[in-house]
Amino acid sequence: MSVWAELVDQDAVVAVLAEAAAAARAVVERAGAPSSPGTRDTRETSLSPQGATASPSSWAMTHSWLLTGPPGSGRSVAALAFAAALQCAGEPIGCGQCPGCRTTLARSHADVRLVSTEAVQIKKEEVRDLVARAQLAPTQGRWRVIVVEDADRITEQSLNVLLKAIEEPPERTVWVLCAPSPEDMIPTIRSRCRHLGLRIPSATAVADLLVRRDGVDPDDALDAARAAQSHIGLARALAKDPQMRERRRHIITAPVRVRSVGEAVMAADRLLKVAQEQTAAQVDERNARERATLMRQLGADSEQGVTKHTRARLRELEEEQKRRAKRSVQDVLDRALVDLLAVYRDVLMEQLDTGQELVNTDMADVVQELAASSSPHQTIRRISAIETARRRLSANVAPLLALEAMAVSLRPQE
Ligand SMILES: [Zn+2]
Repeated sequence: MSVWAELVDQDAVVAVLAEAAAAARAVVERAGAPSSPGTRDTRETSLSPQGATASPSSWAMTHSWLLTGPPGSGRSVAALAFAAALQCAGEPIGCGQCPGCRTTLARSHADVRLVSTEAVQIKKEEVRDLVARAQLAPTQGRWRVIVVEDADRITEQSLNVLLKAIEEPPERTVWVLCAPSPEDMIPTIRSRCRHLGLRIPSATAVADLLVRRDGVDPDDALDAARAAQSHIGLARALAKDPQMRERRRHIITAPVRVRSVGEAVMAADRLLKVAQEQTAAQVDERNARERATLMRQLGADSEQGVTKHTRARLRELEEEQKRRAKRSVQDVLDRALVDLLAVYRDVLMEQLDTGQELVNTDMADVVQELAASSSPHQTIRRISAIETARRRLSANVAPLLALEAMAVSLRPQE
């Protein structure tokens, strides 16, 4: 299967990346792979805009890319597929079968570095390390590819380090930066990259992928794709994990059933607990692993007799882990609120009798009940209460306070 197969509903982006990969291969072949730096005619192999005399197709390739798209649209999938196509030695380019494609997709190719971090920020040292790697020629004669999956998390001061690297990259280095939207990157970075925007795939395209790749029943696949609002990873989880479906139902119905202020406070508390439990499971395991790795790296075998330096490093790690846990809870809560918003939008569609298809086909009963028991005016008020809660959460208001205020506004008004 081709490396592009996992990209759902992104024909335009695939076309551009495939053309770039073809141009990149032409560069490698002109230079005679494996490359021998220093012997090439740089005018022929250069990809920079100054290489105006190079063949027209080499315009398709460039050193710095910015891939943007909403979460779940597949921007890291696109970046990885592109990296694989650059390392591909098979036919057609991006064959998915050759060692270059396979090791890249397995995230183990020596010349492909993937920075996927759940850290809140990407630190300066990390960016320095990337820039240093970027200077090295690829070991296997093709391209050195550096994919930064959350480029929007690079700290402001580190961006200057990156800026220089992107501006004058070695001729066989390719940067692929991923971010939710171009506005998440400062203009100086944006203007030095070729920008490709992924679109939100259609629910039917996502459902189709779940049926094809995961063997999900077509009706369940469509329910999941709609409910996840085309977030591919989430749709897959919803379709395959009954617990996840149950949790979603709980998250949505809890605030909807609120009748009094007391119930609102309880519902908010429950919502926060569910979010914390959901993140704790994955976070705890990872934290313990990171701690063990760090101890090993520092040569501290047991908790006894750790040096001052080790203690300082451990404290640093704990701080980072705390920040990450907080962010994960925020992400889960935000997702829950997006789900809740979708329910009330469905309610409004019903009340206004627009005839539009529901997002939450799996929650039709809840939607009908709400539509029958309230007015469109109330629904709009509720939608704005949820949007306010999202804004507050992203502005770091204490989650419980933001959720309580929301749950109170969701009550039916006397
Ligand atoms: Zn291949």
